Amino acid sequence: MDRDRFFALSPELLATTEPDDRFHELSPAWTRCLGWTLDELRARPWIEFVHPDDVAATRALRQADTQPVHFVNRYRHKDGSYRWLSWSGSRMVDGTSYAVARDITEAKRTEEALRESEERYRELFDNAKDLNYTHDFAGNFTAVNNAAERISGYSREEALQMNIAQIVPPEYLDAVLPWVLRAGAETTTATYELEIVAKDGRRVPLEVNSRVIFRAGVPVGVQGIARDLTEQKRIEAALQVQREQLREDVDVTAALARVGSEMITSLATPVVLERLCRLTTEVLPCDASHIYLWQPGEEAYVPMSGHGHTPEQWEAMRVMKFPLALIRPLHEQLEREELVQVRRADARGRRALAMFRPGGTNAIMFVALRRAGELIGVLSASYLSRDESFTPQQLRIARGIAQLGSFALENARLVEELERADSFRSDFVATMSHELRNPLTVIMGYNELLLDGTFGAVSDEQADILRRANKNALELLDLVNATLDLSRFESRQVPLNQEVVAIDTLLDEVGAEMQAVSRKKQLAVQWEVSSEPITLSTDPVKLRMVLKNLIGNAIKFTDEGQITVCAHTRDGGVEFRVSDTGIGIPSEALELIFEPFRQVDHSPTRRSGGAGLGLYIVRRLVEMLSGTITVDSEVGKGSSFSVWLPRRAHRAHASGNESA
Ligand code: ADP
Repeated sequence: MDRDRFFALSPELLATTEPDDRFHELSPAWTRCLGWTLDELRARPWIEFVHPDDVAATRALRQADTQPVHFVNRYRHKDGSYRWLSWSGSRMVDGTSYAVARDITEAKRTEEALRESEERYRELFDNAKDLNYTHDFAGNFTAVNNAAERISGYSREEALQMNIAQIVPPEYLDAVLPWVLRAGAETTTATYELEIVAKDGRRVPLEVNSRVIFRAGVPVGVQGIARDLTEQKRIEAALQVQREQLREDVDVTAALARVGSEMITSLATPVVLERLCRLTTEVLPCDASHIYLWQPGEEAYVPMSGHGHTPEQWEAMRVMKFPLALIRPLHEQLEREELVQVRRADARGRRALAMFRPGGTNAIMFVALRRAGELIGVLSASYLSRDESFTPQQLRIARGIAQLGSFALENARLVEELERADSFRSDFVATMSHELRNPLTVIMGYNELLLDGTFGAVSDEQADILRRANKNALELLDLVNATLDLSRFESRQVPLNQEVVAIDTLLDEVGAEMQAVSRKKQLAVQWEVSSEPITLSTDPVKLRMVLKNLIGNAIKFTDEGQITVCAHTRDGGVEFRVSDTGIGIPSEALELIFEPFRQVDHSPTRRSGGAGLGLYIVRRLVEMLSGTITVDSEVGKGSSFSVWLPRRAHRAHASGNESA
């Protein structure tokens, strides 16, 4: 192949240059590489294509003695960019040069990128927020980043002189050492938490991710990234405190809710006092609790109730009195503060403890019980054998109990005051009724004597007036009797005398008693009793009173037609029904007629006497017999009263003691 063809066909960048510094022969690859035509490349001295920064070095090479020369420089592309070329060339004696070049632009770029990424890596390593380090298997640091100083207080220079054993405390080192200091460890990565001792002695918690580093397949050391957990631990600790606070709040609320719900149902002072002490020992919790109430007359605190002691201890306590002179400091402190805690540790505390609990109490707290801000007593809670003081949570609960207790005691006092007033009123009414009844019966007695002619004959007209006077006196007597009954109910003096009652016998008796009344009005009373014998365990006197009242009303408010009385079993009890064909009751009045002193017709022309107490008494009696009463009525058609009684009355209804 001749020389021209060789140049024309070569894929390499081949060139010869003349001593006049111009290209002579060029392979076509040059055009592919630099964009210029071969003629354009030959038209100017080749040095003009060289990057200005490389010109000097390239010229210098031309003077070099060694042959061939190798060098790298940049050539201008037709588009203005530069290509990196790697040259090998030789100069002949005649000044002609032969050269072959290789386009290494891509390789240069890759190299550049690598260098940049290395720099970036260094920078990342150096300036990372986390502590980055490497150490050899002897534990000597071989690299650390800038975070080292911020986290440990040691500068990079100092750290590089150190061994991990100098900053990792032994308890962690023992755990970490086997892994990090053993060449050829089975695992090559590990994550763990430890603490380091900073230059100022502070302990810094770290989370470490480390791995074994290899060089040419041989493990040479460990690289680690350690995150500073100080802030995280601080937040965790704060959260934990919050969680505990919340749990405490929930516990306190639950404890007080329990005290509150039990207190609500306590109406009598002794019950309140007893429950307060028991609840205090249970919800606080503590070993014993007592209540001392202030007795103004005696100027002393007196133990009223207690929980958590033996009966003998209580016997000893209840006879004690704490005169103000003896406990003035405590009294005065409680006037100012809600709560006073006394520990065995302080001298005054020891005296107080000895006084309030001879023998054994280790810690005691006193909480003020108040009425309208005034100190009325003290609730105490104590540990007998445990040698601890009360926690803040217990103090909170105790304060709450004392508030609820003060409230319950005040309630109990008000209820008792009301009851006293109520029973006074009932006593008054009962006495008055008695006083009224006696002269009335005397008046009626004289009337009868007059009518009988005992004091001489009376004219028809006089007899008529006497009869009317008698009728009015009778009504008045009814009224007085009803009032007396009512007052007995109100003062809850009515006992329940339960016995087995045969219904048919009872109805026969009632029928006989009512006969005179019904005959007067010429009304038929129909008795309907089921054929099988029915018995009830109830108070027969009260049941008779109920039936007589209902039948009496039926007769009173019925002019014609009939009265029906029936009894049959229903729902595990017996139902009595008294129906009439009388005037009926308007629906809006149905609910009111069972209230005391309620009557449907208030007009002066009212035909029937009565005090409006009958149905009220009936309702109360039925309640005492554990039964129910209902009414059905239509104006002008008649009324029907139904009383249902259970087979057996429950005692609780008649006991009248609703406060327990
Ligand atoms: P009183 O002493 O007035 O009868 P009660 O309490 O027995 O008092 O009854 C209250 C009112 O209910 C009566 O005044 C009357 O208006 C009405 N009442 C009670 N029973 C009947 C009845 N069987 N028919 C119509 N009205 C009745």
